[in-house]
Amino acid sequence: MPKMERQHPLELELELRRTTFSEVSGGFDPARARLEADRCLNCKNAPCRRGCPVGVDIPGFIRKLKEGDAEGALSVIKQTNNLPAVCGRVCPQEHQCEALCVRGRMEGPVAIGTLERYAADHGGNPKEATQKPNGRKVAVVGSGPAGLTCAADLAKAGTAVTVFENLHRPGGVLVYGIPEFRLPKDLVQREIEGLTDLGVTFRLNTVAGKTVTLEQLRRDFDAVFLGTGAGLPMFLNIPGENLNGVCSANEYLTRINLMKAYLPDAVTPVQRGKQVIVVGAGNVAMDAARTAVRMGAERVTVVYRRGREEMPARREEVRHAEEEGVVFCLLSNPVEVLGRDHVEAVRCIRMELGEPDASGRRRPVPVPGSEFEIPCDMLIVSLGTVPNPMLKEGCLDLAVTPKGTLEVDDDLATSLPGVFAGGDAVTGAATVILAMGAGKKAAQSILRWLDAQGQSDPA
Ligand SMILES: Cc1cc2nc3c(=O)[nH]c(=O)nc-3n(C[C@H](O)[C@H](O)[C@H](O)COP(=O)(O)OP(=O)(O)OC[C@H]3O[C@@H](n4cnc5c(N)ncnc54)[C@H](O)[C@@H]3O)c2cc1C
Repeated sequence: MPKMERQHPLELELELRRTTFSEVSGGFDPARARLEADRCLNCKNAPCRRGCPVGVDIPGFIRKLKEGDAEGALSVIKQTNNLPAVCGRVCPQEHQCEALCVRGRMEGPVAIGTLERYAADHGGNPKEATQKPNGRKVAVVGSGPAGLTCAADLAKAGTAVTVFENLHRPGGVLVYGIPEFRLPKDLVQREIEGLTDLGVTFRLNTVAGKTVTLEQLRRDFDAVFLGTGAGLPMFLNIPGENLNGVCSANEYLTRINLMKAYLPDAVTPVQRGKQVIVVGAGNVAMDAARTAVRMGAERVTVVYRRGREEMPARREEVRHAEEEGVVFCLLSNPVEVLGRDHVEAVRCIRMELGEPDASGRRRPVPVPGSEFEIPCDMLIVSLGTVPNPMLKEGCLDLAVTPKGTLEVDDDLATSLPGVFAGGDAVTGAATVILAMGAGKKAAQSILRWLDAQGQSDPA
């Protein structure tokens, strides 16, 4: 078999990256896309497909790209994935489809994610097949990847779908969390418009559990899907955390992404720290740190209690952060936030790694007497998020787990008949593609449940 090196995507110059919100990865140009597609061995049993939670026909779409047919490739992808421009940019492919690619045992796996992005960006707007109306109506609560995927699959099956979203724009984390320099919002908007073309209706600025109750939705619709995510941030719970200048990564990113605080003429207030500390080392922390660089910080330090090997963020995000000047202070944990009214420094303690804990990662243990201070004028806390309890508070019969996630059975049915749930609201903070996989599974369960209810097909 001929040796064929993996193609690398184009990237924005470093100087522009530090000062603008333009997208960093430029994807493939047509020549690179063709070369990369040619690396696909078209394996008969396609192990890559097993690594895709939404079951994209990966060899099928790459075959089209080999023929130079980006529109054909996009049609193949869209049979199972309505957000390819999103997934091609933010999915952790290295742990999913690409981890199972046979070429991975040779010169590196086929760049499936970047090829998916290429098809999405160059494939136009192929028409999607939908079934005739089935006379059923379903309410989808939340317009993140779980809700959007569930809505798309139900609409393709002929169901009338209304999506209820509490923010003024649909997209969930795709619009309020992930920054423009990783996921341009006009692309998210375009993929959401694809759902409108399928007949999905959006009701924005509508809070399920407040503006409209779950009981009302159950009365007005044949079934309900809850894809409400995990948007409630966790904090450190240490002295001084209430000082001005301390915020969650979610708040910081929402102001900047959804409320466009990075634009010169924006009215959204946002703090522009000069010496910024970000606590945590997941994708969200990397997004916050890289955003702070672009917002004019002179020094951005990521503080993380474990070591480099244990960092949950994607390797590419860590590399980009380091290239952009973010400093990593590893094996360190904040114990106190210092300052009068406003944060002035964070006192940390050194950590060492002990035996693995329940997460399988080595447990960080404080080293007595090793405290030290890092000066800062802004502290961004990025320790993870949990589901917002609001929905449950308005509906006591909705069962939740001790962690606050919605309780579901194998079909993603909740404790309330006809109400299904999936995505971060069920798993806790996870990934876009897992949320999409759950939205897909829930759509199938809902259709089966409606059939079992004996809802008649008027046609
Ligand atoms: C900053 C950031 C970066 C990330 N980066 C990546 C990445 O690179 N790759 C990756 O795979 N994953 C990433 N993730 C995780 C990923 O975005 C989530 O796992 C995914 O968005 C979960 O999808 P969801 O549909 O379950 O929830 P969400 O995307 O959170 O969407 C839930 C939606 O429900 C709405 N909602 C909530 N309650 C109500 C209510 N009561 N009524 C009406 N609407 C309601 C919310 O406003 C929101 O729009 C990131 C997350 C964050 C925060």
